[in-house]
Amino acid sequence: MFSDELEKISWDETTKSIYAKTDADVRRALAKDRLTVDDFMALISPAAEPYLEQMALKSRQITLERFGKTISMFIPLYLTNSCTNSCVYCGFHIQNPMARTILTMEEIESEFKAIKKLAPFENILMVTGENPAKAGVPYLANAIDIAKKYFANIKIEVMPLATEEYAELCDHGLSGVICFQETYNKARYNVYHPRGMKSKFEWRLNGFDRMAQAGVHSIGMGVLVGLEDWRTDMTMMAYHVRYLEKNYWKTKYSVNFPRMRVAENGGFQPNVIMSDKELAQLTFAFRIFDHDVDISYSTREPANIRDNMATLGVTTMSAESKTEPGGYFTYPQALEQFHVSDERTAVEVMTALKKMGREPVWKDWDQVLQ
Ligand code: SF4
Repeated sequence: MFSDELEKISWDETTKSIYAKTDADVRRALAKDRLTVDDFMALISPAAEPYLEQMALKSRQITLERFGKTISMFIPLYLTNSCTNSCVYCGFHIQNPMARTILTMEEIESEFKAIKKLAPFENILMVTGENPAKAGVPYLANAIDIAKKYFANIKIEVMPLATEEYAELCDHGLSGVICFQETYNKARYNVYHPRGMKSKFEWRLNGFDRMAQAGVHSIGMGVLVGLEDWRTDMTMMAYHVRYLEKNYWKTKYSVNFPRMRVAENGGFQPNVIMSDKELAQLTFAFRIFDHDVDISYSTREPANIRDNMATLGVTTMSAESKTEPGGYFTYPQALEQFHVSDERTAVEVMTALKKMGREPVWKDWDQVLQ
């Protein structure tokens, strides 16, 4: 399990090592084809900032060789905002006295129909807060059964499950699972996740092993940028991806770097800010480090950044996302989990991508390449 590996890696020593990287370390990393995590640390370090253009060119070339010019499109559907956790940075946390919704199967089907009218989406990501008693495995299995009628590729972003629960959902037609570790800093993890199942660091961390062992085809990972030093957290994720690729080589992996925004009305404020330039540096570094990993940008990022990065390393994007349950048809005015930055319609995103010589594809990568 990855928790055994993480125990061997010191957070503080890793941080020191990243900030001690030199110009020579960066040039050495850029000259290699197969990078180590230590090389990745050099590319995300402050020492690599003068090499951004060189990194962009290398990232673009690798992406073109591995993925061609296509961008795989997906859309999220929030099934519920009911949650038993208390993540301090999220409006869905259990203490928030807000109206809670759990979509019925009829409502879910109406949402699918509404989504299909937006664009020819074939990749659906169903998202829930964490309420296993009311929106647990049987509920998800039913939703997957309905989703199969409308979508070729079905993913979920829900609470970490047991191996046999992932396997059961795969039997229903599940192909992918996304789960964000949020931060790999074990000593600080419970500052952000004080109560509920999400407070169990190892259960979440080892969920990725369980997914792969259950035969989940595609696994998405992410660090929430805004909690701890992003360079150290991303390095831990790089170790994690490499560990998973080595141990479960048949599985496909994707990474995501959601940036928390400054809250306007006294909500949780990010502890660290990642600039646009740093986001670009990280994206190039991840592509140069791992040629095969899908890099996904959500509508949290503004349109101009998404468009630019679509030619330089990003391979998967959401479009026209609603982050409230039933946001496409049933409850269009309910409270969102976070506000999206790119508010363009899916058709507008598609048109912009085509203008830049990219081909949006609505199916999963594997189906396109076969
Ligand atoms: S981040 Fe997820 S688990 Fe945490 S409170 Fe929000 S919905 Fe619940």
